Amino acid sequence: MNLHDYLNYVKQRNGHEPEFLQAVDEVLQSIMPVLDKNPEYRKLKIVERITEPERLISFRVSWLDDKGEVQVNRGYRVQMNSAIGPYKGGLRFHPSVTQSVLKFLAFEQIFKNALTGVPMGGGKGGSDFDPKGKSENEIMKFCQAFMGELARHINHRLDVPAGDIGVGGREIGYMFGTYKKIKNEFSGVLTGKGIGWGGSLIRTEATGYGLVYFAENMMQTQNDSIKGKTCLVSGSGNVAQYAIEKILHLGGKPVTVSDSNGFIYDEEGITLAKLEFIKDLKNNKRGRVKEYADKYKCVYKDIDPKADHNPLWALKADCAFPCATQNELNAKDANNLVKNSVKLVAEGANMPTTPDAINILIDNGVMYAPGKASNAGGVATSGLEMTQNYMGSNWTREEVDAKLHNIMKNIHETCLAAAKEYGKEDNYMVGANIAGFVKVARAMQAQGVI
Ligand code: GLU
Repeated sequence: MNLHDYLNYVKQRNGHEPEFLQAVDEVLQSIMPVLDKNPEYRKLKIVERITEPERLISFRVSWLDDKGEVQVNRGYRVQMNSAIGPYKGGLRFHPSVTQSVLKFLAFEQIFKNALTGVPMGGGKGGSDFDPKGKSENEIMKFCQAFMGELARHINHRLDVPAGDIGVGGREIGYMFGTYKKIKNEFSGVLTGKGIGWGGSLIRTEATGYGLVYFAENMMQTQNDSIKGKTCLVSGSGNVAQYAIEKILHLGGKPVTVSDSNGFIYDEEGITLAKLEFIKDLKNNKRGRVKEYADKYKCVYKDIDPKADHNPLWALKADCAFPCATQNELNAKDANNLVKNSVKLVAEGANMPTTPDAINILIDNGVMYAPGKASNAGGVATSGLEMTQNYMGSNWTREEVDAKLHNIMKNIHETCLAAAKEYGKEDNYMVGANIAGFVKVARAMQAQGVI
């Protein structure tokens, strides 16, 4: 089959899953030369197998809200591929969660996890539950109900979930407690646990830190650095917060954060002290970023979800870090970034840049890093948490940070080497897809038709 046949094949089987098809299309386009070079992958139907979840679990989550009313949500776990290790990937609690969204995320996770060099397969899960406006008690009730079912499908050698949008330390705590009670065992079945009960130092910071380490590696290829660069960051959750922190450590100047309502533009730059305000606002008070603009007297703009572009990406800057969610940066936004001579776009979120926007960036010589490479520091450090749990001991902050630093450097080199080998020099997207795919395809070949 050629590219067109493969795309049709996947489309026929998954016609109603636009996000999944988008993620698969990108990977398939990149890996066609690998299939041509290795005809056995076609014969072994690696593409047909890798695009089919090994197992997909969908379940009802019923729980009682604070008024005593019954609430019903839908829960999922997509166990996508276990060729190189136990299924690994986060849980997302957000009203936009569908089977398509989780299949795209699980598919991305296969290649991302392969790139980290830590043995982890690909998985993802979550629910259409909306944590916004829920009380502490309701969050706990929901997490307990969700894990009440998920517990029978996971364990520390089979499938190890973690956080994602809407799932942070608090939710991991409630789910871990429920799992422990049901199974009557204390094991590393989830990552992102608290320090003192199996968690790893630096896991909280890892996705954002790793993203900026990766971006610094990209800048170094041009004998440049993040130092002195104005940086646009979208989102205000875990990834955005620690990306901003690392940009500041490296001497850059972050000027924006956003949430689903709008964004702030602080022309003077977000400082470490201002970042503390954002962390407290988002992690403890669960407020809106508008409060930052009120406090520090800077620009605030509402984001109109129906608008054809996001004005955040029209601001003048050197680097852009989309850290909010999928498809948040479209062709018009990419054109605005190009118009303002942005040098680099590195994805903190999963698939935040639309396919046509990616083409615009690459065609205009903007350095572009796909999330499966640049945001892999989070799951890589989850892998380090698993290793520490298996060993029964902990590494210091410095040790974990050094390992993360090294992993991001290796991923960067791996992407460039694979891109070069296939004649697509400096194309991180093609390099990431090829390097991730080859590693998993080899393992699938070795393990036979299963
Ligand atoms: N949800 C994160 C991701 O997109 C982390 C997953 C994990 O740590 O297992 O990679």
